Amino acid sequence: MQVYLDNAATTKMSKSAINAMLPYMDGIYGNPSSLHSAGQKASEALVGARERIARLLGCEAREITFTSGGSEADNQAIISAARIGGKKGKKHIISTTFEHHAVLHTLNRLEKEGFEITLLDVHENGIVLPGQVAEAIREDTCLVTIMYANNEIGTIQPVREIGAVCRERGVLFHTDAVQAAGHLPINVREQNIDMLSLSAHKFHGPKGIGVLYAKKGILLSNLIEGGAQERGKRAGTENIPAIMGMTAALEEAYSHINENTEKITALRDRLIAGISEIPHSILNGDAKKRLPGNVNFCFEGIEGESLLLLLDGKGVFASSGSACTSGSLEPSHVLLAIGRVHDIAHGSLRLSLSDENTEEEIDYTIETVKNVVEYLRGMSPVWRDLINGKKEFIIK
Ligand SMILES: *Cc1c(COP(=O)(O)O)cnc(C)c1O
Repeated sequence: MQVYLDNAATTKMSKSAINAMLPYMDGIYGNPSSLHSAGQKASEALVGARERIARLLGCEAREITFTSGGSEADNQAIISAARIGGKKGKKHIISTTFEHHAVLHTLNRLEKEGFEITLLDVHENGIVLPGQVAEAIREDTCLVTIMYANNEIGTIQPVREIGAVCRERGVLFHTDAVQAAGHLPINVREQNIDMLSLSAHKFHGPKGIGVLYAKKGILLSNLIEGGAQERGKRAGTENIPAIMGMTAALEEAYSHINENTEKITALRDRLIAGISEIPHSILNGDAKKRLPGNVNFCFEGIEGESLLLLLDGKGVFASSGSACTSGSLEPSHVLLAIGRVHDIAHGSLRLSLSDENTEEEIDYTIETVKNVVEYLRGMSPVWRDLINGKKEFIIK
C-alpha cells in the first residue's frame, strides 16, 4: 500500500486544476500584455481569474497580486509594510517564534537593516493570544505578521481577534495563510486582515504560483523590477496556466469545504487516537484548534529521520517537520517554540492528510507507525536506559 500523508509539504494537483490549465498551454498562449487578440484572450483570462480569487477571499480584484508562491508573497508583504513604516520612523515589527522561514528570514534581514523585531512566544498548545499582541504593540510598531495556521503542528490562530487588535491600534496586519487557504474559511474584510499570502500547491493547485492580497491604499514595494505587470508591483510575464489552475483549485476547495472538513477531521481524529496508544508519545499542538488534516507527534527515544526512512520503506510518505528543515540536523524551530526539548523534538512525525485518504489507509498507517516505533526503540541504547531507569522519561 502507498499512503501519501505529506499534504502540508505539497498536494497532488486536482483534475479540475489540470483541466483549467491545459487550454492556456496549448491554444491560448498569448502574452496578456500583447495588444493583438491572441494576447487579449490571455488578458481576459487573467482579469477573470483575479475577480474569481477576489470573490473567494472577500476583497476587490485590484487588491490581488499574483506571485510565484507563498514565499514571495510573504517577502513582499513584510518588506512593503517595513518600507511604509520606515518612512514614518516606525521600525518595530511583531511576529511569533513559530512562523514559516519565509517570514522569519525576511524579518532577520530587516533586523540587520535596523528594524526591531519582537517574536511572541507561543503557548504549549501552539496558539498565540490576541492579548499578547495588544501588549507588544508600541507607538513605533508598523506591522504584525502572524500565520493563520502553522505548517508543522497545524494549530489555528485567532486571526480575526488579532486583526481587530491591530486595526484598533492602527497597525498593519499580515497573515501567512498558506496552510489555511482552501482548508479554512477566509474573508479578509470580516477577519480584519490587511495583507494575506497563499500558495496554490497547498490546495491541489500547481506549484510556483500564489497570491498576495493587500488592502487598497497599501503601497507595495517591488521585489522584482521590470515591466508593468501586476500594476507595476510585480514584473514578469504572468504565468497564465498556473493562475488558471490555482483559481480552479481554490474554487473547488471552497465549494467542497464543509464535506472535506468533516471527512478529513474524522480521519485525523482516528489517526490521532491510534497513534496515541503508543507509549511515551505526545501530540504536538492543540487537539481541537488544528487544521483538519494535521497530525504531529513526538516519540521518546526515536530519531525522526530513521522513522521517516522506515515508513517510506512501508509505503507511508510522511515528514518530520517542514520540508525545509528536514535534511538538516537542527530540530524543528516550531517544536522548540512550543517547549519541546531538543531530544524530544528530534523524534517528531508529521502526517498531513487530504480528502483522498481512506480509513483503510489510516488504519494501515497506525499499524505501521506502531511497528516501526517499536522496532526502532528495540535497537536504541537511549530507550534501553529509559526502560532500565538509568534515564528519566520526558514524555510520561
Ligand atoms: C509552504 C508554505 C510557504 C511557502 O510557500 P511556497 O509556495 O512553497 O513558496 C509559506 N508559508 C507556509 C505556512 C507554508 O506552509
